[in-house]
Amino acid sequence: TKWVYRFGNGSADGAADMKNLLGGKGANLAEMSNLGLPVPPGFTITTEVCTYYYDHGKAYPEALQSQVNDALEAIGAITGRRFGDQTLPLLLSVRSGARVSMPGMMDTVLNLGLNDETVKAIAASSGDERFAWDSYRRFIQMYSDVVMGLEHHDFEEILEEHKAEKGYSLDTEITAQEWAGIVEKFKALVDEELGRPFPQDPQEQLWGAIGAVFGSWETPRAKTYRRLHDIPSTWGTAVNVQAMVFGNMGETSATGVAFTRNPSTGDKRLYGEFLVNAQGEDVVAGIRTPQDITEVARIEAGSEAPSLEALMPEAFAEFQTICDKLEAHYRDMQDLEFTIEKGKLWMLQTRSGKRTAKAALKIAVDMVGEGLLSEQEAVMRVEPAALDQLLHPTIAPDAERTIFATGLPASPGAASGAIVFSSDEAEAAKASGQKVILVRIETSPEDIHGMHAAEGILTSRGGMTSHAAVVARGMGKPCVSGAGMLRIDYRQGTVSAGGKTFRSGDVITIDGASGQVLAGEVAMQQPTLSGDFGILMGWADKVRRMKVRANAETPQDAKVARNFGAEGIGLCRTEHMFFDGDRILAVREMILAETEKGRRNALSKLLPMQRRDFIDLFKIMQGLPVTIRLLDPPLHEFLPKTPAELNEVASAMNVPVDALRERAIALEEFNPMLGHRGCRLLVSYPEIAEMQARAIFEAAVASAKESGSAIVPEIMVPLVGLKGELDLVREAIVKTAEAVMAESGTTIEYQVGTMVELPRAALQAAEIAKSAEFFSFGTNDLTQTTFGISRDDASSFLGTYQAKGLIEQDPFVSLDQDGVGELVKIGAERGRSTRPDIKLGICGEHGGDPASIRFCESVGLDYVSCSPFRVPIARLAAAQAAL
Ligand code: PEP
Ligand code: MG
Repeated sequence: TKWVYRFGNGSADGAADMKNLLGGKGANLAEMSNLGLPVPPGFTITTEVCTYYYDHGKAYPEALQSQVNDALEAIGAITGRRFGDQTLPLLLSVRSGARVSMPGMMDTVLNLGLNDETVKAIAASSGDERFAWDSYRRFIQMYSDVVMGLEHHDFEEILEEHKAEKGYSLDTEITAQEWAGIVEKFKALVDEELGRPFPQDPQEQLWGAIGAVFGSWETPRAKTYRRLHDIPSTWGTAVNVQAMVFGNMGETSATGVAFTRNPSTGDKRLYGEFLVNAQGEDVVAGIRTPQDITEVARIEAGSEAPSLEALMPEAFAEFQTICDKLEAHYRDMQDLEFTIEKGKLWMLQTRSGKRTAKAALKIAVDMVGEGLLSEQEAVMRVEPAALDQLLHPTIAPDAERTIFATGLPASPGAASGAIVFSSDEAEAAKASGQKVILVRIETSPEDIHGMHAAEGILTSRGGMTSHAAVVARGMGKPCVSGAGMLRIDYRQGTVSAGGKTFRSGDVITIDGASGQVLAGEVAMQQPTLSGDFGILMGWADKVRRMKVRANAETPQDAKVARNFGAEGIGLCRTEHMFFDGDRILAVREMILAETEKGRRNALSKLLPMQRRDFIDLFKIMQGLPVTIRLLDPPLHEFLPKTPAELNEVASAMNVPVDALRERAIALEEFNPMLGHRGCRLLVSYPEIAEMQARAIFEAAVASAKESGSAIVPEIMVPLVGLKGELDLVREAIVKTAEAVMAESGTTIEYQVGTMVELPRAALQAAEIAKSAEFFSFGTNDLTQTTFGISRDDASSFLGTYQAKGLIEQDPFVSLDQDGVGELVKIGAERGRSTRPDIKLGICGEHGGDPASIRFCESVGLDYVSCSPFRVPIARLAAAQAAL
């Protein structure tokens, strides 16, 4: 088996389409090499080795060692250096590289191959002793940290002590000799901490680093990330080993990162940061504040530090050409890493750049304009879930801003919350329902859970490409990074700037659009959607097969839904129309009434309110289908609980409060979700169905008269398991329809259908379809009843199930396609078997989940229905599912 794939010198064994085998980084290094771009030669150990490693008790395949050695020889042949050589030693970088970039994985070891002997050879061959020792100390520090598990800051402390002693403020002031002394101290620290010396044998170093990359695949952090992003553990990671090029060889050397377009706004402009005389991790770590790559960006930022364009015009020009070439080649915005060694440019990485939803839309739309993409390809380029970001609030324009500090506008949106200084605190606060802003000097992959829990992230260090910025953008959270004037004291739990101090728990607001940090909570406004959004949605709508409706009952929600492009209402939960004020009183009267007469009395109070609601709803949804579901409350939601509530209902019904209390107690259920709800209520009390049907039909007549165009209400019966249940309720509806038509002299078209939300209904769908003109899959209840887990209580153990890998996702969020999905499929097929033109939809929460929407397309449903704010997501997801 071929375990090792080489690249460099204008050719490669691999290519961009081999990501599964080579990982993203390895595949793209191969591709760049094939394109003839300057890539330091190297090789990729495949992801299959990772799989093998874990399948064989952490052992490597036999042939690996010799394949690696041959590949090292090949690098040597290109560079004229040999690994471990005493005069011209080859130094290596070792990096992980999964199919998708994954924080939590071992990142990078640079300068591998240095030891007490080779450092002298490097000093001699480069003619730069200081550079050699600086590289060696970096290597010890990094290797000890990522391979041997020592703390990075223990080494930093030695360094800081030395600088303090000498009165230095910058690393660059440290001399070669001093670096050599620091190296001795570093080695002593390793020996002391681990009881064994720092490895001197380059082969041992290399295999140590390779083992650390594979080992990092199964760290808790990596596993958490995989769980959050649905990455299977079977993918494994590759290892990339490459000849070192040095950005720290003095003032004509540099290292940087760049995006071919602005990842925050999508503007078509090269965008990036670099540091002179530095190595890669310095930029991302945010230890020094990086400089802008282009002159335009520098001027705009009002920065004094010269741009790369001004400092190294030739390398910059070549870089710009390469950027254009890569973007055209990949037909996507690229995220690049580069190093300039003594004026010579080297490309270290290219990949599709992470971007905000706003940027994703703009780039997709622009690239169609530039002829790089077709409309359909553009539709596939935007992740539906990311659209959520565009719906984030921003600070109201007229809101008063008490500016506390300013940093970089690293990720858009604004958020307010109480200050927390650690990720664990953020998680705990979130769990107790508190909104927090995570305030850190800088973030690292250990902070992922805290960043998830926080409303927004604020750091005092690091640029637009720092960890905090990149991860926050990916998560769609507001972030202000590099607010350098902030002094953060973790121990005291304070953050200060300009003489003002905030403590842990104080509320601040961050504005990810301006980079401002504001005191207190600030008024927000809902976003308006940009032109690009409309254009892309238009393309999506062209290719979409399924309709997208909304779950809405209030005029407010219905309007939002329509604005977002909903094509009707798929679920109007009528019980939600009864929650407030007078209405709940009348509902309570109805529930607690002991006689039909009492119930009819209460219902007659509800009728005009219901009719009014439906008239309003029909008006907003003019010309679109509206599915109204008859009453489906677990009764307990409506029972009076407090003495005050009991008194109120008792006096309204004119019955003694004691009798009422007894009746309320009698109605209490052990399992309300499996109790007297849904059509069971309607079977017991057909007068409820009659009242609701009357309200619907009278509203339909009224709105037909008002607007001239008739609405075709779809009346839906919940929680049906037996065809007989549907037939009984249907009879009440039909009888009422005929009565209203006779009274008004108007013909009303309507449909009667049912929810399919019990396994029995799915299994008996052929029978039930004889009485139902449409089915709407209620996957909330169907999930509950298929799994036999309670919607209200399952969260207490579902987290454990996810952590133990029993389920990948919460089945109430993303449809369990194997189990619940099979019932949906059966229901659809059997329903169609007796009524071929039956209309099929879904209205559980899953109707707004992209993966579940893909499933709905595969089953051939006619529409999905979801909450109003998810409508744009569903439109795009449905389009992608159809392509
Ligand atoms: C469902 O069960 O999926 C559904 C949409 O109804 P509800 O959530 O109101 O029970
Ligand atoms: Mg339901």
